[in-house]
Amino acid sequence: MKTRFLIFPAMLAAAVVCVSLTARKGEMGAGAGARKDDPEGEQKGGSEMSAVCDSELPKNLTPEQIEVTQQKGTERPFSGKYWATKEPGDYNCVVCRKPLFSSKTKFDSHTGWPSFWAPVEGAKVAQKTDRSHGMARQEVVCGNCGAHLGHVFDDGPQPTGLRYCINSASLQFEPEKKADATNSP
Ligand SMILES: [Zn+2]
Repeated sequence: MKTRFLIFPAMLAAAVVCVSLTARKGEMGAGAGARKDDPEGEQKGGSEMSAVCDSELPKNLTPEQIEVTQQKGTERPFSGKYWATKEPGDYNCVVCRKPLFSSKTKFDSHTGWPSFWAPVEGAKVAQKTDRSHGMARQEVVCGNCGAHLGHVFDDGPQPTGLRYCINSASLQFEPEKKADATNSP
């Protein structure tokens, strides 16, 4: 009965994520009617996973993008698409496409992950304390859809002194549209 999912491997992966999410949350259904904002649900052991279910995930996400954003995965350093990107443009959430970071605050941290000293103005970027791997780190998530993005550290450059260490897999880069005077109204 799952054969129809084989047409879209990403969909299958999303379905697996959703199944494990459902197993953890217990009462969470297959998307319809599930309440993402239920604070009790958050406390029942489901907080390790984003509440986004397969029905809400874009169908074109790769398995790595799903693992990073929904299961707090971390891509290998220097393996992602954007760690060395210097082009001007915006970095949006790969799941919900809301703007999160910009080339204007990107800097070369030599870590192999895209690094920013601040989110874009007005971006919904939320932080949570992450105590996994025996460390207390500040996890950074998309405040709009809950996708895991990376971590923020306090060893960044001025003016903030912060280093948002973000997975390329959580981002969708949109190059700045070249201002062309001939196209202006
Ligand atoms: Zn998002």
